[in-house]
Amino acid sequence: MEFCPKCGSRLVPKKGKGKEASVSLVCPKCGYRKHSSSKEVEPKVAKVIQHKPQQLVAVISKEEQKLRTLPTVRIECPKCGNNLAYVWQVQTRGADESSTQFLRCTKCNYTFREYS
Ligand SMILES: [Zn+2]
Ligand SMILES: [Zn+2]
Repeated sequence: MEFCPKCGSRLVPKKGKGKEASVSLVCPKCGYRKHSSSKEVEPKVAKVIQHKPQQLVAVISKEEQKLRTLPTVRIECPKCGNNLAYVWQVQTRGADESSTQFLRCTKCNYTFREYS
């Protein structure tokens, strides 16, 4: 005897439709269904790992060479109109805990910021 993991009701065996002779245990209360057939192996649900574009957070540094490792974003430079800029974020030690996004034009090196 098995019970529904969702609501605790007793599961009722129910035969599958058509060709499938597999017996499923069905919860009459909430509709939970459990396949009890040993033949029919439920396909394992593949875990979908969503690859979010990782936004690298780099600490502002005086070392200019570190700019090479910074990610770039498509954003229009307010100075020269170039649409590519390095981006890094600086966490402001404020009560609002907001991070400021700094951007530097890849063309003219103009640095500007954007509040997120
Ligand atoms: Zn149930
Ligand atoms: Zn620029």
